[in-house]
Formats: sequence, C-alpha cells, structure tokens
Amino acid sequence: MKKYNFFAGPAILPQSVLEQASQAALSFGDMGLSILEISHRSKEFVAVIEEARALAKELLGFSDDYETLFLQGGASSQFYMTPMNLLNPDETACYVDTGNWSSKAIKEVKHFGNVNVLASSKDENYTYIPKGYDIPSDAKYLHLTSNNTIYGTQMHSFPDTDVPIVCDMSSDIFSRPIPTEKFGMIYAGAQKNMGPAGTTLVIIRKDILGKVKREIPTMLDYNTHIGKGSSFNTPPVFPIYVSLLTMRWVKEMGGVGAMELHNEEKGSLLYDEIDRNPLFVGTSRKEDRSLMNVPFVMNDAYKSLESAFLDLCNSEGCMGVKGYRTVGGFRASIYNAMTKEGINKLVGLMQDFEKKNG
Ligand SMILES: *Cc1c(COP(=O)(O)O)cnc(C)c1O
Repeated sequence: MKKYNFFAGPAILPQSVLEQASQAALSFGDMGLSILEISHRSKEFVAVIEEARALAKELLGFSDDYETLFLQGGASSQFYMTPMNLLNPDETACYVDTGNWSSKAIKEVKHFGNVNVLASSKDENYTYIPKGYDIPSDAKYLHLTSNNTIYGTQMHSFPDTDVPIVCDMSSDIFSRPIPTEKFGMIYAGAQKNMGPAGTTLVIIRKDILGKVKREIPTMLDYNTHIGKGSSFNTPPVFPIYVSLLTMRWVKEMGGVGAMELHNEEKGSLLYDEIDRNPLFVGTSRKEDRSLMNVPFVMNDAYKSLESAFLDLCNSEGCMGVKGYRTVGGFRASIYNAMTKEGINKLVGLMQDFEKKNG
C-alpha cells in the first residue's frame, strides 16, 4: 500500500531526492565511491557545499551581504549561538514567545545578556500569533519563530522594524518567499522541510557580527565558519548533499513562489475539510493557521473516537497523524514534499469516518 508521510520531523522528502540520495550512497557521480566515504576536501564535495550555499541564498533571494553556513548541533544550538555571537552582557535582545521552540530559545539568552519577551501567546496555549507589540529601537535583535511546528501557527507577515530580525525558520524554510531585507539572520534545522537531520542552515548578514566583546570558542563563532566556507571542520556531508538535492527540487518546481501556491492549495483542501466536517475542529486561530503543520482534534461530542480515527489513518497508510502531547488529537504535517494526492487521501479518510460515525 502507498504510504503518505505526515510526520512532523524528521519528515517527508521528495521521492526523487530519496532516489538520488540512495544512488549517491552507493556511487557518487562518476567517482565510483560512495559520498559517505570521500573527503570533504575533495573537489567533488567542495562543489556540493558551494552549490548548496549559493542555492540557499538564491532560492530565498538573499543578497551578497549575507553568508550561508551548514552547521551541526541542530536548530537548538542556534538558541545559544545567536546571543553568544550577537549580544553583549549589558545589551537586550527581544523575543516573541509563540511556543515550545521560542521558549527554549528565550531560556538561553540569560547566559549572555538581557532578554525582553515582547509578547507571548502562552495564555491561549499558543493557538495564535501575537501582533501589535512595540519593538524598542535599542534592541540588539528581535527573535521570531516563523512557524510553530507543535501548535500549527505561522507568521503570515513580519513586523516592520529597523531592528534586525533573527528568525527560526526550521519548519517553513523554502515554503514561501520571505522579505529577506528584514532579516539579520535566519536559521533552520534541515529535518523538517529541507533534508535529513544533521545539519542546520544559517544565513547571516555579515555586518551584524564581530560586535561582541566576549571571547567566543572557535567552533561556536559564526566568523570561524564563514572564514572557512562552512568547512572549518568536517561538515555533515550527507545531510548537506541531501539538502542540496531538495533545494534543486524546489528550484525545478518553480522556486519558493511556486511552493507557496502549492502549499496554499494543499492547506485549503485540508483546512476546508476540518471546518466542514462536524467531527473535527481546528485548534489554531484561523488567521494564523500554518500551511506546514495542521493540528486538529475531535469535536467534543466525538472525543471517544480519537483513537479509532488514528487507527484508520495508520491502516490506510496515512502515517504520523498523531498530535503532539500538549495539543492532543491530530497533526498533519504537510511540508513542501507532501503531494495533493496525500492530502486528498487524508481528506477522504475524514469523510469516510464521518459517514461511518457522524
Ligand atoms: C524542530 C524544531 C527545532 C529543533 O530543531 P533541532 O534540530 O532538533 O534542534 C527548533 N525550532 C523549530 C521551529 C522546530 O520546528
């Protein structure tokens, strides 16, 4: 039976990417060696990382004022690397708290400087995106999380401010065009929408670096990695290669603008069914709904049927639909590589379930 992958992360990759990656694990290009067993200094791999660095910037439209890195340590390491590299002890960074990931980022700032949490949606279990908060002009940077993987909310616009925005885009990178000029830095763990676990994309404007007085350990200094073309030490070669394959796929599909249309179409199909079907109800505020992670629960009158619906999903090949523990119910992650066919399959199951139980 065909399986559809709705897992939140590590998550779905395009089938063609998996096929090319499998081939390269056996023999890379015409080398006759696996990509897993060649030097990261070989001209073949240097070409991979250079193309990946350039293509990430090209797809999103970042100018040459920005540098691209593929680091290790997950997006979670950026939670501390950001203040370590950007914030002096007597300075303040502003954060917006939109869920678990931003809370974790906020927690790390105190090791390096002051944090000002401008707004939080914790009061309503992170079901919306706070708006209309004031951004102090002396803030060193403003940290945002563009898409909240757990709660299924997404920023559909970014605030207007002269303060450089640092944005965790782990779960919606390359899913739509972004206003690049607003960002001092963006970062994204690969394993949601870009590749396998093991590397984190960082795109950073060079002029925001080099302004802190503390000594930064070599490996944790962005400038170390910039100076060495993202190959100061052995980079995670396979995750970078698979990320490159995914970026090439995004480009072939028409780029991030085409991705956005594709994602809007998929999101509408699924959200329309959630709104129409009396058995189900969405958990995030409509205007802030994510096009990447779609959380929903069973309507109160049908709560006892939750596990039956999950069983149906699993037996029909819709995998990973179980909701996160603090939200409950269901979550369908519908990243770039999810097809309309996959969405139609899930919508069909929701309709079948309604006919049987409604
Ligand atoms: C998954 C996720 C993270 C954590 O990524 P790791 O690579 O596991 O550290 C951070 N932020 C967001 C928005 C995520 O979805």
